[in-house]
Amino acid sequence: MRIDLHTHSRVSDGTDTPTGLVLKALDAGLDVIALTDHDTFDGVLEAAAAGKRVGVRVVPGVEMSTEVDGTSVHLLGYGCDVHNAPLAKELAALREARSRRLPEMCDKLAELGMDITGDDIAATARSARTLGRPHVADALVAKGYVANRQEAFDKYLAVGKQAYVARYNTDLVRAIDLVHGAGGAAVIAHPWRDSSRHVLTAPLLQKLVTEHELDGIEVDHEDHDDHTRRLLFEMGGRLGLVRTGSSDHHGTGKEGHALGCNLTRKPAFMELVSRIRQRGGIV
Ligand code: AMP
Ligand code: ZN
Ligand code: FE
Ligand code: FE
Repeated sequence: MRIDLHTHSRVSDGTDTPTGLVLKALDAGLDVIALTDHDTFDGVLEAAAAGKRVGVRVVPGVEMSTEVDGTSVHLLGYGCDVHNAPLAKELAALREARSRRLPEMCDKLAELGMDITGDDIAATARSARTLGRPHVADALVAKGYVANRQEAFDKYLAVGKQAYVARYNTDLVRAIDLVHGAGGAAVIAHPWRDSSRHVLTAPLLQKLVTEHELDGIEVDHEDHDDHTRRLLFEMGGRLGLVRTGSSDHHGTGKEGHALGCNLTRKPAFMELVSRIRQRGGIV
């Protein structure tokens, strides 16, 4: 069974439509995918309908923008009721904060001699519900200032670069509680990528498990080297966490994240499903 539990569509910063993504999953020989767009459930109904047509199981998901001590941490929520009011309200606040920072990014780019307007960003973002730096990057590409998204991040948009603007994130513990309140299971995405490894220590993860019922951690992810994967697998086992794997596919928006390049083992998936069922979520 081939299971990929973290993917993005055009509804956030991926480049495939939700339906297109499911068809690609079928081509890639996947049996299960989770659609986990940033801070929105907007694509999950379409993806689920496409999955039903072609025989790919689609788990509804979201990747929430959270933080621990000011450091960005991504939290995957699986099987949530997409109409749950407290969670929907928080996701709306996150999207609003994302949009609010765009004029400031345009101002900074203008100071650097680049003319990017809100309309330029809206044009490249098309139907996206969640706007982000990748859409600003696409606008820079469209205007010929850079060759691709990566160059835009490396030169201007990455943390610490001149056009970077910080934004609001949900506190991690609060996000875990919101996911659980919506019947879902909470899994920390790429915990030990370079930027968040120092805050997601073993004692903190232990505390998140015992005090907040954190369900899992992503182990097999492109941001983790082999050694890191081994350490996380071992630690996750000790803490009783579900250990997942995923591509974090963004279509053509991010290189080296081909659909199905990392997979979740079937027992881990079954455990996740059972936790979602126990909480009354949707699978
Ligand atoms: P934002 O949500 O606006 O903070 O942008 C974050 C998104 O930009 C991530 O989900 C990635 O898809 C992408 N991203 C972040 N950092 C980089 C980077 N250094 N190079 C390329 N893409 C990146
Ligand atoms: Zn993304
Ligand atoms: Fe992420
Ligand atoms: Fe992601």
